[in-house]
Amino acid sequence: MEYEVVVVGAGPAGSAAAQRLAEKGIKTALVERKFLPRHKTCAGAVSGKALPYLGEGFLHLTEDRLTGMVFRYRYRDQVGYRTDAPYAYTVTRDRFDHHLAVRAVQAGAELIEGQEVKCITREGGWFMVSTEKATLKARAVVGADGAGSLVARTFGLARKFLGVAVEALVPLEKVRDHEVYRETVFLDYGFIPKGYAWIFPKSDHLNVGLGTFSARSVPVKFLLEQYLDRCFPYLEQRDRKDLSWSGHPIPVYRGGRFSGDGVLVVGDAAGLLDPFFGEGIHFALESSLLAVGVIERYLEGGASLGEYDRRLDEKILRQFQVAHKVAWLFYHLTGAVHRHLVRKGRIIREFTALVTGKQSYHSFGRWLRHNILKEALSRVPDDDHFLRPGE
Ligand SMILES: Cc1cc2nc3c(=O)[nH]c(=O)nc-3n(C[C@H](O)[C@H](O)[C@H](O)COP(=O)(O)OP(=O)(O)OC[C@H]3O[C@@H](n4cnc5c(N)ncnc54)[C@H](O)[C@@H]3O)c2cc1C
Repeated sequence: MEYEVVVVGAGPAGSAAAQRLAEKGIKTALVERKFLPRHKTCAGAVSGKALPYLGEGFLHLTEDRLTGMVFRYRYRDQVGYRTDAPYAYTVTRDRFDHHLAVRAVQAGAELIEGQEVKCITREGGWFMVSTEKATLKARAVVGADGAGSLVARTFGLARKFLGVAVEALVPLEKVRDHEVYRETVFLDYGFIPKGYAWIFPKSDHLNVGLGTFSARSVPVKFLLEQYLDRCFPYLEQRDRKDLSWSGHPIPVYRGGRFSGDGVLVVGDAAGLLDPFFGEGIHFALESSLLAVGVIERYLEGGASLGEYDRRLDEKILRQFQVAHKVAWLFYHLTGAVHRHLVRKGRIIREFTALVTGKQSYHSFGRWLRHNILKEALSRVPDDDHFLRPGE
C-alpha cells in the first residue's frame, strides 16, 4: 500500500494532522495501535486557546465547562474564584480522540486501527512503515505516537525529559458534595515536588490526579492515595479498590531537531507539553497544523522540513522558554505565590488570560516576576539602612 504520508498515532496530534493533510488532497494513512475509542490517561481539560483548532462539533463533546477555580496550598488555605465566561472545557479522551479520528476519515484519510508500528526503514525515496500485519510505503512520515515515540527514537528527533502523572476516576454517585465540583477545577500544591494535584469535573465522574516534573523519583501513586483520603475521606475501601487508576509519562522537550529528511514529530512525540502546568492537547493540535503546511511544500518538491523547526521555535518553544522560568518561580516559591498572588486574587485574571490565549507566556512571566519582586521589596522595612547610598 502506497501513501504520500503515513501518520503514526491517532491521538489529537495525529488525527488533526491526518485530517488537514487529507483535506489538502494528500493521500494519508493514520495508523493507531489500539482500536478507537480507547482510554487515554489524561485529565481532559481543553483550554480556551485550543478552541479555534477544534471546530463546531467540539462543544457537543464537552463534559463540563470550567468557570471556577479553587486553589489550596498544602491542603489548607482554600481560595476560590469564578470567571464570567468559560476559560476551558473538559472532555473524556476516548470520545474526544475518536471524534478527531472520525473527522480525519471524513476528510479522506485512511484509518488503520489495532496495528502497532514496529519498525520504519528507508528504501530509496520511500519510507517502509511496518506493523505486525502490513508494510506501508510513504514519501513522508509524521510521528504522532506520544511520549515514547518510536518515530522520534528511530530518527533521533526531539530528546525529552519524562515526568509522570497518575489519575483515578471517582464516580459522581460516590461523591457526597458533588455539586461543589460542577464547572470547577480544584488545584492543590505545596506537597508534590515540582508538581500539583487536580480534580476536574466530568458528567458522571471526577478525574482526580497529580503529576510531577521532578527528576527525582516521586511516589506518585502513594501521594494520590493520600490525596484521595484527604478529599474523599468517606470513600469506603471497597469503592477505593474499584476506582479506575492509570499513569502515563509527561514528556518535556529537552533539545534536538523536530524534523529530518521526510520525517517530523508532533505533539507529545516532540515533547510539546507546557512545562509549567502540563497542558499538551493545545500544543498537539498547534504543532500538527504547523507541520501540515510544511509537509505540503515538501511533497511538492520544494521546501525542506527544516522550516517546521523554525516555525515551532517561533510559535511554541519561545513561549516554553518563559514557561520554564514561570515553573521555576512557582515551584520554588509556591508558598509565596499562593499567599501574595493567589490568595489576594491578583493572579486569576492573568492566569485565565494565559489559558484562553489572550496573553502570551512572555507577558504572564513579566507580570509574575514583577509582582513577586514587588511583594518581596515591600517586605523590606522602611528603616532598613543596608542599601542607603552614601552611608
Ligand atoms: C495524567 C495526565 C493528565 C493530563 N491532563 C491534560 C489536560 O488536562 N489537558 C491537556 O491539554 N493535556 C493533558 N495531558 C497531556 C496530554 O494527555 C498529551 O499532551 C496529549 O495526549 C498529546 O497528544 P498526542 O496526540 O501527541 O499523543 P497521545 O494522545 O499520547 O497519542 C499518541 C497515540 O499514538 C498511539 N501510538 C503510540 N505508539 C504507536 C505505534 N508504535 N504505532 C501506532 N500507534 C502508536 C497511541 O496508542 C496513542 O493513541 C495529561 C497527561 C497525563 C499523563
